[in-house]
Amino acid sequence: MATTTGSCLCGEIHWTVEGRPRSATNCHCASCQKQHGAAFATYGAVVRSKLRVTGEPKRFRSSPDAVRMFCATCGSSLFMDYDADPKTTWVSLGTADCDPNCRPESHAFVASKAPWIELTDGLPQHAGHAPR
Ligand SMILES: [Zn+2]
Ligand SMILES: [Zn+2]
Repeated sequence: MATTTGSCLCGEIHWTVEGRPRSATNCHCASCQKQHGAAFATYGAVVRSKLRVTGEPKRFRSSPDAVRMFCATCGSSLFMDYDADPKTTWVSLGTADCDPNCRPESHAFVASKAPWIELTDGLPQHAGHAPR
């Protein structure tokens, strides 16, 4: 099976997952905006047990139910885990080193969307979490 691979900006951390993410979402929550320094973050969902990581991302609990992982050297935002979904890890698609063969299906948390961008791609928009 083909793999999807990625890495942080400085190259200290690499990740590989069998196959491709099963779905992807653009997240407009305030935490994603802050952590990514961007209008929104695009995450792909992968099976946690199939994700291989080399290097040690720093962990930050950004909300009571979510942990974000990033490179302590270069700051790249890499992964997010939700306590409620221990079998899934959300991978920042911007760190992929190949086409992850998965496209964003929706915009989540548009209730906190940055006022300085317009969403023109026609994808469904959800005020909070995208339905799974
Ligand atoms: Zn790095
Ligand atoms: Zn978010």
